[in-house]
Amino acid sequence: MDIQDLAGRVQSGERRALARAITLVESGRADHRAQAGALLDQLAPLGRQALRIGLSGTPGVGKSTFIEAFGMFLIGQGLKVAVLAVDPSSARSGGSILGDKTRMEQLSREKNAFIRPSPSQSQLGGVARRTREAVALCEAAGFDVVLIETVGVGQSETMVAEMSDLFLLLLAPAGGDELQGVKRGIMEIADLILVNKADGDLKQTAMRTCADYAGALRLLRKRAYDPAGFPKAMTVSAVTQDGLADAWAAIGELIDWRRANGYWDSRRAQQSRHWFEEDVRMGLLSVLNRKDTRARIETLGAQVAAGKLSASRAAEDILAHLRPTGEP
Ligand code: GDP
Repeated sequence: MDIQDLAGRVQSGERRALARAITLVESGRADHRAQAGALLDQLAPLGRQALRIGLSGTPGVGKSTFIEAFGMFLIGQGLKVAVLAVDPSSARSGGSILGDKTRMEQLSREKNAFIRPSPSQSQLGGVARRTREAVALCEAAGFDVVLIETVGVGQSETMVAEMSDLFLLLLAPAGGDELQGVKRGIMEIADLILVNKADGDLKQTAMRTCADYAGALRLLRKRAYDPAGFPKAMTVSAVTQDGLADAWAAIGELIDWRRANGYWDSRRAQQSRHWFEEDVRMGLLSVLNRKDTRARIETLGAQVAAGKLSASRAAEDILAHLRPTGEP
């Protein structure tokens, strides 16, 4: 594969080249990893930055409908929009339920949009690295906004928030009790809560739900990187498109403030550091779980148990033999 040529075509925004480049970073093959690294190195000096928006919500809340409507709205503003999906369940099912093109029919036909389903992979750590690299490729390809979608399950939300400039939580209109259903940790990472389906019969309930969440957000500890009034709860309707412009305006207000006050850069810097440490951790874990390492641990473990070797000597032996190969 001619990496230089691929880099050039990604850089000029060719969507097919971008898709190929993402396939390359998703591959676990050692030669592909090397090529992916070379590709990313070539593109990094461009220094292009998109607005990275993390988006989460439970199945049925309207994520794909929202992304379709919001994506079309952004394209209407003259922006180029990429959608990446992180689907922790695809590891189990082997398939992808998110980011599926048929879910965003209109958007997928737009030349200023790019939609990529979740890579199926067994470890969330592996998915994290692949997604981060896919984000970097979308940025290099000149996309203005990268939406990173995930379902509200386990650690995937925290992971997506750690690679986003801001995090949107999509919720459905519901009775007061349901407020408890949103984990505090998720509320704490949200920058904007959007209560979707604020239309027709659901509008009143949506407004009440929104007020409830606005109240709950006010109870959270103030974060240094927020302007007054954030995090915020708003109502939207992905179907009627009501509130989409207001949501975009709120995003703009938040991001402008963070840029002006140094939090955009500091957050990205902190995230880079986080992912560096995370990659080291994942790399070490994968070596620990490698067959040869497991076998050595077994053998030494037996010797330790039999009193032939001290625990610390055995541990030193293992640590001295940890040589990362392959990938997390
Ligand atoms: P996802 O599973 O989170 O991606 O949810 P979908 O986008 O597939 O939407 C689930 C259901 O909610 C579908 O039947 C949508 O038509 C419906 N839906 C999504 N957004 C809205 C909305 O703004 N208003 C109403 N009334 N229904 C919506």
